Amino acid sequence: MLPRFAVLSTAAVIGFAPFAVPVHGTSHQPPCGRAGTGTAVQSPVEIDRSAVCRRATPKLVIHYPSSVDGKIVFQDKAPIGGRPSEHDDIRFVIGGEGARPYITLGGERYDLANVHFHGHAEHRFAGEPFAPVEAHFVHEKAAGGRGYAVLSVLLDRRGDGRTSEHDRLFTSPPALGTSRNIRNIHLRELLPAERTTYRYTGSLTTPDEEGTYFQPVKWIVFGQRAKAGRKGLQTFRSLWPAGEGNARELQPNTPPPTIYRSPA
Ligand SMILES: [Zn+2]
Repeated sequence: MLPRFAVLSTAAVIGFAPFAVPVHGTSHQPPCGRAGTGTAVQSPVEIDRSAVCRRATPKLVIHYPSSVDGKIVFQDKAPIGGRPSEHDDIRFVIGGEGARPYITLGGERYDLANVHFHGHAEHRFAGEPFAPVEAHFVHEKAAGGRGYAVLSVLLDRRGDGRTSEHDRLFTSPPALGTSRNIRNIHLRELLPAERTTYRYTGSLTTPDEEGTYFQPVKWIVFGQRAKAGRKGLQTFRSLWPAGEGNARELQPNTPPPTIYRSPA
């Protein structure tokens, strides 16, 4: 255990140390808010792992029960019917029975409302290709007005031909605009093993009933990708015609958001 403890301690010290900003060609990412903004920007954004702010972030604690029930919905937003549009998605909606999954962020509680998927991914790490799919764990502020905290997990194909818990959510989708019940989803298995996160304040990536992309949203993007089966990912992506999908494009924000790296 000692070496592991030593590594964690080192990470913690680095986390509070002054941070030198590397130069990356023509791209410019701000150090700790000097050129970036903490005000909510439009999402999604590109994240440069080498140009993030390493100051302390609010403590994230994930309180997910071992399994939850709910339903899989192929959500149909306007225009209704026909073929799936860019704002439609497959989502796991948490049922009202049993222990409620939630997170706390700096002690503030956010309840998990749904887990939904975008293909291809919406967030991208600089220098890396888009992941085939991105999962959003949407948490709603439990008290004190409307607000969201979203855990974002990029999904890659498994190389061993097997499936994962993610496949249970999108491999056999109901028809557009319909739903089916599902039981015993193991939420914690949907997260990557390594828990380093990248955080910024942004917006929802689909419009609400008023047609606006709500702000502020606390984005918590995992640095490591989780895995799903090749067939499941293909099934999900094939719901939209070739070349289309339900991902919002990267948003050009000026100034860009300050992005914080939070060690696992
Ligand atoms: Zn989303």
